[in-house]
Amino acid sequence: MRQRRIAMCLFASLYVFGFFAGTAEAGSKLQVVATISDLKALAEAVGGDAVEVAVLARANQNPHDLEVRPSLMIKLRHADALIINGLELDDWANVAVQGSNNPAITPSGIGLIDASRGIPVLEVPGRVDRSMGDVHPAGNPHYTLDPGMAPIITQNIVDGLARVAPEQRAVFERNRREFLTKLETTMARWAKSFEPLRGAKVVVYHADWVYFFTRFGLRQAGTIEERPGIPASPGHLVRLLHQMKEEQVKAVVVEPWSDRELAARIAKEASANLALLNAKLGTVNGPDAYLVTTEANVTALIQALR
Ligand SMILES: [Zn+2]
Repeated sequence: MRQRRIAMCLFASLYVFGFFAGTAEAGSKLQVVATISDLKALAEAVGGDAVEVAVLARANQNPHDLEVRPSLMIKLRHADALIINGLELDDWANVAVQGSNNPAITPSGIGLIDASRGIPVLEVPGRVDRSMGDVHPAGNPHYTLDPGMAPIITQNIVDGLARVAPEQRAVFERNRREFLTKLETTMARWAKSFEPLRGAKVVVYHADWVYFFTRFGLRQAGTIEERPGIPASPGHLVRLLHQMKEEQVKAVVVEPWSDRELAARIAKEASANLALLNAKLGTVNGPDAYLVTTEANVTALIQALR
């Protein structure tokens, strides 16, 4: 009996100790959730040690198309801030927010951060006559893949986090400056390595590299999807292959969630190289994650274009 009581006391004290240790750790850092990995990486660059960032879409999941499960709502329940991509890419997050019962991250809460504020949006329907599909109704939402957009995105994140924790604004601003200084040097190097490839035509599985291509002087020659979110018809693929051979397209871009088998067949038929981009997404954490994943994309694409 006595032994059992001692054991129970031990268990209770361990539980209490563990409980307080856990909440102290969690309580000292801002709890941030991002819908996609790029935004998680940029939030870690800005937030540094002051934040703990979780992500809703796993790196191998198509960010357009996420099934909202209870686990996402649980992640959001105690979040101080939620960073969304906006431009209708991650509208599925609305459902998760509703289910999270967390007023801080609703549209009227102080913790909701829309990273797209101030982004010069490309391919807005009505302004251009191409690449309009079922999943890009507000224009092309994939601006986070272009490192040149990082100054705008990180400013939005600083402003949002500082709304939640005003006393930390100076820290976020310093982290942002340090990150952008490093990014600027790295981007100059990336731009230099793309210079000899200026104007090179690339076929992509899904139209999510237009911002990146515009930044580095490449051109999207076509997409394997018929329109964003719409799978290819046989007629579309015949036309695409014909065009690729005629224009000597050298690279076909796929991502972890693309139909890679189909893309590999197209690339082979057109004697082009397959470039797997976003392969490192979600595999690195911390303030350098965005630089590491973008570096991997730059390297894979240059390799395919050579
Ligand atoms: Zn898209």
